[in-house]
Amino acid sequence: MSNTKTSNHNRRAIVTGGTRGIGRAIVKELASRSCCGVLFSDVAFVYNSCDECAEELMSEIDYPGTKIFGFKADATSLEQAQATVNEAIEKLGGVDILINNAGITRDNLLLRMTEKDFDDVINANLKSVFNYTKAVIKPMINQKYGRIVNIASVVALIGNPGQSNYVASKAGVIGFTKAMARELASRGITVNAVAPGFIQTDMTQKLTDDQKQKLVQNIPMGRMGTPQDVAKVVAFLCSKDADYITGQVISVDGGMAM
Ligand code: NAP
Repeated sequence: MSNTKTSNHNRRAIVTGGTRGIGRAIVKELASRSCCGVLFSDVAFVYNSCDECAEELMSEIDYPGTKIFGFKADATSLEQAQATVNEAIEKLGGVDILINNAGITRDNLLLRMTEKDFDDVINANLKSVFNYTKAVIKPMINQKYGRIVNIASVVALIGNPGQSNYVASKAGVIGFTKAMARELASRGITVNAVAPGFIQTDMTQKLTDDQKQKLVQNIPMGRMGTPQDVAKVVAFLCSKDADYITGQVISVDGGMAM
């Protein structure tokens, strides 16, 4: 799937889970942005199942000077991640930016949580970060440049009942981010995490109105965030203005964790 416009000097980004919610906003932000030291980016987005979402996104992106490619691949598979990254690099002409955003929830109290619920969430949220990071670091090391942003969550910082699988996966993402930041800093590659609070997407759409109302009461800014709130911070971390930032966890949560 492709929507090609020609350009010579764009940054080249891969975004996992790019078809919906936060990932979709990140794809649009990277493809459309040319201020604050960020060039336009050509973007390869990865999704798991929703072909209509991918087609809709391709049709919505019509920014002059950017190339957009969609790849259907399961981020939990290292083999598929490697193949997708190879194909994306071929189409984009390289890779400068990786956004590890794909994620799922399978909420339940631990007493009722199945082994599959635990494994599925760890695989989609944490193993996928290992898979895509492993697939991109060789070309990034060779070019001595890379920007990696991992999407964690506020609950990794403060905990949340009914989400032991999800919280463990996102705490793992934060640990992985810091380890990679130390491994790759001398190679010109920064690795940071963004920890969103409660953001209006399909993921939080599953919550009841009562649950949402209770959550909003715990947000100092008194509202849920938007996918764009997160995407702008991700784009900043990929920009020249953030060249000296690595190993950090930036909360975008209306003040929930402080
Ligand atoms: P979302 O609306 O449910 O979208 C999830 C995206 O990830 C979709 O594009 C989905 O593709 C993709 N995806 C899921 N599993 C995948 C897999 N195995 N391989 C490839 N792609 C996969 O979720 P969201 O709310 O935007 O969340 C995005 C990220 O932010 C997640 O990591 C989430 O944990 C994190 N986050 C969200 C919130 C929030 O309040 N929404 C808060 C904190 C952190 P398909 O549609 O094709 O399945």
